[in-house]
Amino acid sequence: MKDRLSSKVQQLKPSGIRRFFDLAASMDDVISLGVGEPDFVTSWAVREASILSLERGYTSYTANAGLLELRREIEKYMQESFSVSYRSTDEIIVTVGASQALDLAMRAIINPGEEVIVVEPNFVSYSPLIELAGGKAVAIGTTEETEFKLQPEQIEQVITNNTKALLLCSPNNPTGSSLTKKELEAIAEIVRAHDLLVIADEIYAELTYDDTFTSIASLEGMKERTIIVSGFSKGFAMTGWRLGYLCAPKEIAEAMLKIHQYTMMCAPTMAQYGAIEALKNGKQDVEEMRKSYRRRRNYMVKSLNEMGLNCHLPGGAFYVFPSIKHTNLSSEQFAEQLLLEERVAVVPGNVFGKGGEGHIRCSYASSMESLEEAMKRISRFVHARQ
Ligand code: PMP
Repeated sequence: MKDRLSSKVQQLKPSGIRRFFDLAASMDDVISLGVGEPDFVTSWAVREASILSLERGYTSYTANAGLLELRREIEKYMQESFSVSYRSTDEIIVTVGASQALDLAMRAIINPGEEVIVVEPNFVSYSPLIELAGGKAVAIGTTEETEFKLQPEQIEQVITNNTKALLLCSPNNPTGSSLTKKELEAIAEIVRAHDLLVIADEIYAELTYDDTFTSIASLEGMKERTIIVSGFSKGFAMTGWRLGYLCAPKEIAEAMLKIHQYTMMCAPTMAQYGAIEALKNGKQDVEEMRKSYRRRRNYMVKSLNEMGLNCHLPGGAFYVFPSIKHTNLSSEQFAEQLLLEERVAVVPGNVFGKGGEGHIRCSYASSMESLEEAMKRISRFVHARQ
């Protein structure tokens, strides 16, 4: 029989996170620090707005780019919160999560063989999406010495004639690192000098704890070369709603919309009505969640450092990425043994690419009670190996 599968798909590696979740799901009494989603339920006002839209019978498709009212709210929100201005009429597209936004961005800009620079450790979808779009992911590794922050000179070391774009994620999953305005300026300078595009994954923009968040698109000469990928999953605790958005210069937005029209038509209508409410009146809820995450971050970083699992204080998202190097276990061994012996699920750092080995990702989007119990168990696990 002929080979029935696409060779591109066959070459894709399965996600390394899945195996751990499957194992954890088959066990009782597991505390999971593995998941990458908020532990909050979406605010009632947002849920109610969505329910109301159903009661009113708003069950048809929306415009391909999303409800104009929602795009107008996104335009206003991006301007007021992050000082970036993309027009609701032709530079903003509502998508099915930031996940679809990333996929559209890659497919709209990549020609066969073109390269996109990714900064690892990073979100596991980036390289597969680049490859599925016919491109090549070129990885730069970062380390704990620089708090997992990309150093501008690293970009120049990997630029070739085929380099099309730089994919940046700040605050970062899995390291929590958040780039300051000054750091972004140095990166932007190189991007402009080499005429690159930037795909800025800003899904954690609302969840920064120290410096305020800076969008690279707000810097001089960057709007016209930046595609912002964002959404409601993290900051607004709306993962299951599957709603994200793209902001990009008109020419690129039109290209992405073309693909979106054929592949998705539009994002779910009832979710879009909920999102309008989230942007209009959700600021206070986001602020309360942010404060709660910040408390938990501080607790977790202190506990991990006290037990010898060193980590910096991450500026954003809801992850800590401590080093487990002194245990002489690999990340996979550490995560597997910790799960089997102490029933705590974490994600081994190696699944996030270069620089991830020797670390584990711990999410603090769990109740304080669970975090305290998890820290006790991890401490016992680590001390048993000293
Ligand atoms: N980017 C990053 C960095 C993420 O961590 C995630 C979710 N884990 C996504 C994108 C996808 O988010 P969404 O739920 O909006 O598809």
